[in-house]
Amino acid sequence: MDTEKLKDALEYFESRIENCNLCARNCMVNRKESIGVCEQGVNAKITNAVLHFGEEPPLVGTGGAGAVFFSGCGMRCVYCQNFGFSQMMVGREIDDESLANIFMKLQNSGAKTLDLVTPEPHLRSIVHALIIASESGFNLPIVFNTSSYVNVETLAHLDGIVDVYLADIRYTDDAVGKKYSLVPDYWTVAQRSLKEMYRQVGSFKADRMRGLIVRHLILPNGIAGTQKAMRFVAEELSTSVPVSLMSQYFPVYKALKMKEISRKIDDDEYVEALDVLEKYNLEGWYQPLYEKIKGVYAKSIER
Ligand code: SF4
Repeated sequence: MDTEKLKDALEYFESRIENCNLCARNCMVNRKESIGVCEQGVNAKITNAVLHFGEEPPLVGTGGAGAVFFSGCGMRCVYCQNFGFSQMMVGREIDDESLANIFMKLQNSGAKTLDLVTPEPHLRSIVHALIIASESGFNLPIVFNTSSYVNVETLAHLDGIVDVYLADIRYTDDAVGKKYSLVPDYWTVAQRSLKEMYRQVGSFKADRMRGLIVRHLILPNGIAGTQKAMRFVAEELSTSVPVSLMSQYFPVYKALKMKEISRKIDDDEYVEALDVLEKYNLEGWYQPLYEKIKGVYAKSIER
C-alpha cells in the first residue's frame, strides 16, 4: 500500500467533508453541521462486514470477498434491495480505528479482497482506516463497488489506491435515471466515471487482481438500456472489460407500485441480453435465469 498516496487522498477527502461533492449529487453541505442526500455525517456508518461468496468468482477465491456494507447512498433507486441501509439509514456509526480493525479482521479471516460496497460518502473514513490498517500489515486488494454515480475528481484521488473497480451501468438515459433513481444525470455522469476508472486500471485481469469489471442488472421492459450499455463498454472502453450480467432483479420497495418494474425479468429478456453480449463480443459472468437455457451461452461468456 502506498502510504504517501493514501495521505494525499486523506487530505483531499477531509477537505470535502466541509463541502461535500464526493458523489455526483454535489450536495456541497458541511457534513460536520448538516447532512446531504446520503444523510451521512463525518464518521463511517456500516451495516455489516462479512465474508461474501456471491461476488464475481475471482474476487471471492476460496476465502470470500471481505465485504463491508456502508450505509447511505446518493442514489435513490426505487427498487433498491438494500433500501434499509442505503435509504433508511440503518447501520452503526464507527470511528476510523474500529473500521481499520474490521479490515484487519477480514484479512485475518481469509478474505481474498476488501470489497467496499457503496463507499463514496465514507471515503474520508475508509482512507484513514486503510492508513491505520496498513501499519498492521493490511494488504488486501481494494475493490470499489459502486453505482458509478461518482465524480471524476473523487476517482482521481483513488488512483493507485483502488485495485478493482466493480462498477454498475444502471441505465443509459438520464431521464430513466431520474425516474427510477431520482438523480438528474446518471448516464452523463456514469460514462465519464467509467472512462476514468478504465483509464486508471484497464480491463480486469484475475492474475494481477486489478482492473475494471462492469456490472449490469437487467431490468424488465428494457429499462436498463442493455443494448446501449454493452455498446458503450465495447466501443468506448474495451471488449476486454469483463461484464457481469445480473438477472436476479425482483421488485421490492417502491418498485412494487410501478407497473413496468413490478415483476422479475422473463426468459425472452434474459436471452436478449445474452445475445447483446455476444453481439458486442463481450465476456464475463452471468447468473443463469433457468436451468433450461443455462449452457447455451456458457461457452461464449464464461471465463
Ligand atoms: S456523498 Fe452524500 S453529502 Fe456528499 S455529495 Fe454525495 S449524497 Fe451529497
